[in-house]
Amino acid sequence: MFSYLRSVIPINMNPVRVRFAPSPTGPLHIGGLRTALYNYLFARKNNGTFILRIEDTDQSRLVPGADEYIIDSLNWCRIPFDEGPGNEGGYEPYRQSERKNIYRQYAEKLVSAGHAYYAFDSADELEQMRKRLKDAGAKNQQYDSISRMQMKNSITLPEGDVKRRIDAGEPYVIRIKIPSGETVTFKDLIHGTVAIHTFDLDDKVIYKSDGMPTYHLANVVDDYLMKISHVIRGDEWLPSTPLHVLLYRFLGWEDAMPQFAHLPLILRPDGNGKLSKRDGDRLGFPVFPLTWKDPATGEVSEGFRARGYFPEAVMNFIAFLGWNPGTEQELFTREELIDAFSLDSVQKAGARFDNEKAKWFNQQYLHRKTDDELSRMLSPFLPEKKIHYSNDFLKNVCRLMKERVSFPHEIISHGDYFFSAPVISDLKAVEKKIKPGIKSLIEELVNRINRLTVFSSEEIDNMIKGFIAEKNINTAELLPVLRYFITGTSGGPSVHEIMSVLGKNEAVNRLNTGLQLIILP
Ligand code: GLU
Repeated sequence: MFSYLRSVIPINMNPVRVRFAPSPTGPLHIGGLRTALYNYLFARKNNGTFILRIEDTDQSRLVPGADEYIIDSLNWCRIPFDEGPGNEGGYEPYRQSERKNIYRQYAEKLVSAGHAYYAFDSADELEQMRKRLKDAGAKNQQYDSISRMQMKNSITLPEGDVKRRIDAGEPYVIRIKIPSGETVTFKDLIHGTVAIHTFDLDDKVIYKSDGMPTYHLANVVDDYLMKISHVIRGDEWLPSTPLHVLLYRFLGWEDAMPQFAHLPLILRPDGNGKLSKRDGDRLGFPVFPLTWKDPATGEVSEGFRARGYFPEAVMNFIAFLGWNPGTEQELFTREELIDAFSLDSVQKAGARFDNEKAKWFNQQYLHRKTDDELSRMLSPFLPEKKIHYSNDFLKNVCRLMKERVSFPHEIISHGDYFFSAPVISDLKAVEKKIKPGIKSLIEELVNRINRLTVFSSEEIDNMIKGFIAEKNINTAELLPVLRYFITGTSGGPSVHEIMSVLGKNEAVNRLNTGLQLIILP
């Protein structure tokens, strides 16, 4: 359907004004967030303006709360808009439902100029038309330059009849009159030259019987009135762009037409389809920035925030879904992203979502947090809230655990032994280490631990090393047992580090509890 040629990106002399134009028909998906981010980065890079415009003309598809959700998500990810609802910048209002009165005149202008027409066909009649075309083996079963001649519209009906119907309040829509036998060509900054024959376009409704414009008309009118210089949006809108190009031409706005950049699809981790919420549910990862409760079904979908993702990690991760700087660098601050970003290096091919990579990014950002920052994030996850954990204790836990986790809450779940003694009921896990003599060795070690005056990890480490050397035993014979008694597991930070954080009393208690399970002398 399309032919593509990579083009040289023309330098646009107008001030850069870009917009993110979501429809509040549900929560913002990671793809929408990426579109917002790329618009934001492009605006910042070019000293431009980033606009949020809410496209809510399709009243039947509006979902309560989606509008606020979009704004909250942008705020959480720190993708601030310069103009938008609540942040007027001279082109308000920024919600299309509040601009309702603007669009009619443009639809009428198109009708007067012969580029659009009134159509009175009922749903039934449209269905019959499609069936007729299908039965006749037509390639396109659509309302177009051929089929329109058999339908009830202001092209086929006498003028007087049209007027009478309108005056009588008969419902009608306004359709664009797609010219026949033409090729519409435009440059896309990512796809190159795109050309489509008008045979493949249909006479889309641009104004509905409910007095609202459709997406196509409202989008073009607003981009023009808001002086948008670049339209950066998802690939799913590429097939609609020839229609938009025709609208610019028919409205006499060709000189002010923005440049287009269509961003690659975000693909599911397995297979070639577009990433959906279902994939997230199926494979266990979020696709929304914030938790969303579906107002119709009550179903709750956890977002990146609730899963413990940092907004800066999400921003960095989604920046790479379709773009890369052409270097090895992966971790980017916001300023670095702004500096490195260009539409020129956005790829055409779909970008595969990789949950492991998302986690990796989060882990990298977690490692870079200070122990103090992390300790302050732990409070919602702390077990037994009644117990007061000192900030120093939490900081120490963070220091030992942060290299081993990807999310703040994992510091608690993977390091649960810092917060309560493990419940050990048998010695199966260390069975092979329980040899004659081990009990008395550990008893003696506990005595030495008890005698330590400074309970630092270094002192404990030196003491244990000295003990092992003196007794001429193998580290691997003793340490796993100590670790098991202290933590109930076989992994984690060094035992002497854990013991020093737990404190002498707690460490000794745990070792004594473990010792009781050893029956051998
Ligand atoms: N309202 C459209 C959407 O939700 C906007 C498309 C565009 O940016 O033109 O995706």
